[in-house]
Amino acid sequence: PDRLTARGLVKRFGETVALAGVDVSLAPGESLSVMGPSGSGKSTLLHCLAGILQPDAGDVVLQPADGSPLDLGSLGERRRSLVRRQHLGFVFQFGQLLSELTALENVALPSMLLGASRDDAELTASGWLGRLGLDGMGDRRPGELSGGQAQRVAVARALVTRPAVVFADEPTGALDQATGYEVMRLLTETTRAAGASLVVVTHDADVAAWCERRITVRDGLVVDEARRADGTAG
Ligand code: ADP
Ligand code: ADP
Repeated sequence: PDRLTARGLVKRFGETVALAGVDVSLAPGESLSVMGPSGSGKSTLLHCLAGILQPDAGDVVLQPADGSPLDLGSLGERRRSLVRRQHLGFVFQFGQLLSELTALENVALPSMLLGASRDDAELTASGWLGRLGLDGMGDRRPGELSGGQAQRVAVARALVTRPAVVFADEPTGALDQATGYEVMRLLTETTRAAGASLVVVTHDADVAAWCERRITVRDGLVVDEARRADGTAG
């Protein structure tokens, strides 16, 4: 079955129709980019798929790696928050790391919130920092990292709980092109290696090109859908 299935998503903000009936599904391990102009509904779609926002109509079903499917619309805010913590990972544009914590502590935190001991969480976090090419950086605070390093820490933090789906909203938006390329390479490679599916919201076609499938949103509707021909990254 699909990892994530959304049907008939509608979301309004007052008079604004941000989503006008969107269907989208995501296979296990699949990477999907969501493109479209500013204001087209990309972030709203991501937030509905991730159970951050409740749609006004339609439903979202998440199939975790093990266990029964979860109908996000039927869950209250507290349960959805737990589902996010247990099964989803998030990478945002910038400013998402806790500035008072070291890189290692930032990456260890999600596991500790799920009940792991500090020692276990930091051991696992250290492995993820290594996978993201950040050996030796664990003691630095976010302010002591470059933008690209900080995003790699954010990717490690998103993957450390072994989520079923990783959501990235303009993950390279604050980076120069070469650094953004490296972050997308690491994001797509490590997510695939972890067996997670990936949803990337971007207005940048070069960023979208890292994903296997692409949808284009306009005025709250999916107006185009494409699958990459070669089936490889980059
Ligand atoms: P995108 O991510 O493609 O730029 P958004 O999903 O952020 O688009 O926004 C879609 C539409 O919904 C826009 O018209 C935006 O102004 C509106 N919108 C999004 N979030 C809110 C909100 N919290 N309150 C009011 N309007 C919103
Ligand atoms: P917590 O349960 O720890 O309070 P949430 O479950 O509310 O966190 O959020 C899960 C993830 O989604 C976090 O990484 C959080 O930063 C992000 N998030 C929550 N609400 C929003 C929002 N309105 N816009 C963007 N990201 C959000």
